[in-house]
Amino acid sequence: MSKTIAINAGSSSLKFTLYEMPSEEEIASGIIERVGLKDSVFTTKYNGEKYKVVKDINNHEIAIQMVLDKLIELKVIENYEEITGVGHRVVAGGEIFKDSALITDEVITQIENLAEFAPLHNPANATGIKAFKKLLPTITSVAVFDTSFHAAMPKENYLYSIPMSYYEDFSARKYGAHGTSHKYVSERAAEMLGKPLEDLKLITCHLGNGGSITAVEGGKSVDTSMGFTPLAGITMGTRSGDIDASILPFLMKKLGLSDINEMIYILNNKSGLLGLSDISSDMRDVEEAAEAGNEQAQTALDIFYNRVQKYIGQYFALLNGADAIVFTAGIGENSPETRQIIIDGINWFGAEIDEEANKVRGKERIISTPDSKVKVLLIPTDEEIVIARDVERLRK
Ligand code: AMP
Repeated sequence: MSKTIAINAGSSSLKFTLYEMPSEEEIASGIIERVGLKDSVFTTKYNGEKYKVVKDINNHEIAIQMVLDKLIELKVIENYEEITGVGHRVVAGGEIFKDSALITDEVITQIENLAEFAPLHNPANATGIKAFKKLLPTITSVAVFDTSFHAAMPKENYLYSIPMSYYEDFSARKYGAHGTSHKYVSERAAEMLGKPLEDLKLITCHLGNGGSITAVEGGKSVDTSMGFTPLAGITMGTRSGDIDASILPFLMKKLGLSDINEMIYILNNKSGLLGLSDISSDMRDVEEAAEAGNEQAQTALDIFYNRVQKYIGQYFALLNGADAIVFTAGIGENSPETRQIIIDGINWFGAEIDEEANKVRGKERIISTPDSKVKVLLIPTDEEIVIARDVERLRK
């Protein structure tokens, strides 16, 4: 028995989940928000209780120290050494990391060098790794990349139709994201369907604040809706998804912008459901406003459904059929309306929602009718357990 901790370090946050392995029992979890700012908030969940501390936490090293000390204070562990493995989520693995990797100094440098591909995330991920290494230098330490699951994509799906030398010289291509989530739900889908993953064609829909859809064949990602960065694909909370690049200089001129980064910021942070509805990036707010008769909110919803449906249709064609469609993440897990509307609109493909079965939030379940040719599954995602499992898999 050993305890393994999954860490997700953002630029001003740090999330953790502690597991007993190999039983995969979740022992404790928590989050520190506003790291490096005033009044940081540290919340720990253990034994059904929630513990909250508000105080200034200046950096990730102090944050991790606080997590470990809290675990001792709550008697979750007796000493630091009881934790024998740590897995760190890293956003961009570029073309280097086709699988999770044992962390060495060289790996840390490579993660830092990949900051060009994820400027907000990779430096924060590396900070978390270094802080942990300082406090627990000898434990098995593994980096788990959001992009690795998509490393199997064939080149006709990851290459853009731009001069080949841009790929060859600069690695400019599609990388995708949410890989741990698509991987987790694919594996669970095979278990729920009672079939080997190797024999299945799946379309996995991760619909959260960020959203992506993946075509999975034989347990491998064949194509995914996000691109060089997570900006591409379907309409998201604040991201535009796919857009014709020519609209950027046009809009910059109209808006009097001279820096392309300002435009990219708008596409990442002011667009999607938020930009379309002028209300909120949060699906619940947009659904509520639409229900109350707000037409603009309804249009935002219609565009969201439409983009998801079009990607599902595209992947039915790419895979030449699919055994199941999987819904996961905040919206996919919790909005029966979204699932119903999306599937009802594409029932030509042979998927039919069971209205009764679909009346569920956040629980694993087959939500298609018994006769549905294509099964529809609801599977709550669990990216942390994928991270913890990879620590065990790579443990020397
Ligand atoms: P995530 O990024 O996976 O945490 O998902 C966040 C998204 O899930 C937000 O747009 C939320 O509005 C949405 N969400 C959470 N609960 C519900 C719900 N009950 N109904 C509709 N959307 C929900």
